[in-house]
Amino acid sequence: MAIVSDGVVRMANLAIVSSHAVNGVAELHTQILKERIFANFHELFPERLTSVTNGVTQRRFMLKANPGLAELLCDAVGRDWITDLERLAEIEPFADDAAFRESWRTIKAANKERLTAVVRDEACVAVDPAAMFDVQVKRIHEYKRQLLNGLRVADLYLTLRDDPDMDIVPRTVLFGGKAAPTYWTAKTIIHLINVLGARINADPLVNEKLRVAFLPNFRVSQAELIFPGSDLSEQISTAGYEASGTGNMKFALNGALTIGTLDGANVEIAEAVGAENIFIFGMTAEQVAEHKRRGYDPRTWVNASPRLSRVLDFIEGGSLTPEEPTLFRQTVDDLLSYDRFMVLADFDAYVAAQDVVDAAYRDTESGPAARS
Ligand SMILES: *Cc1c(COP(=O)(O)O)cnc(C)c1O
Repeated sequence: MAIVSDGVVRMANLAIVSSHAVNGVAELHTQILKERIFANFHELFPERLTSVTNGVTQRRFMLKANPGLAELLCDAVGRDWITDLERLAEIEPFADDAAFRESWRTIKAANKERLTAVVRDEACVAVDPAAMFDVQVKRIHEYKRQLLNGLRVADLYLTLRDDPDMDIVPRTVLFGGKAAPTYWTAKTIIHLINVLGARINADPLVNEKLRVAFLPNFRVSQAELIFPGSDLSEQISTAGYEASGTGNMKFALNGALTIGTLDGANVEIAEAVGAENIFIFGMTAEQVAEHKRRGYDPRTWVNASPRLSRVLDFIEGGSLTPEEPTLFRQTVDDLLSYDRFMVLADFDAYVAAQDVVDAAYRDTESGPAARS
């Protein structure tokens, strides 16, 4: 609990001691702070750690960013949701209104057209607005696991190469996010996504079913165009690491469904939308902690999954960057020797959850009642 020890200032300890309240920003993260990270402080100051889940403003991320949807909602239930988000619950009965659903889809299609132009202008990639827009936008960090998404895109590419006639929903996988200037591993992940995208987009055997784009310079003004045009929200951090997340909320408010782990505010989103309206996969924060206690062996997962093994061989093989074939060797070596964020352990569950997403996307009409 020392503020200064081993020659360093412990900033979090300093912050707790000098504050009258410390927010855990989501229920799960607050619980982790109280039970693990700051258990001693919680014992000493039992009132200090509080839990007020993060939020985003619907004025920017719905009213301004998605005027089409905002108008539909206002026509249906009035304007009160603009200053009182809880009032959005009043649209629930409209799930049974076929005309409302049709208007909803028309608005989403227009927002996807708008996003298609952004992807063309900013990433120089042509995408089809009729494809599912599967989107991960956030700072690049190992715990957020853009690499897990990259591995699954590579797996889909290899699978499609083997069977180009496979019956899947065409997908456009969009990435966006900045990395800190000295964060070499993160920069390498951006590089990997870009070369993977270049390979896939140029391959006529697969590019009608799969396209990949990395949007440079992810920022709020660009985000305002991305969230309304997204179908699937990727929130796939290693459970226990994402304090809350707010991107998850912006997507959800614009009608994108979430594929994600039980982490941060995803847990509360899952409670709010119901288990049948979210695609949850992978280890829980408890299971992640248990693996860390017992000693996590990444090779176990590779040995158990021929699919995973094939993807790692492909990435490591060097064919994505013939001018520098060893570029991703370190990335794969790190996964095989440490895999600090347990990407490999969640890979098979993630791929399986994406198949469930596929089936749900085809089913445009049935709501939770019809599905259960
Ligand atoms: C919302 C937002 C974030 C945070 O996204 P997370 O998914 O919560 O990490 C980061 N950058 C921009 C530009 C955003 O709009």
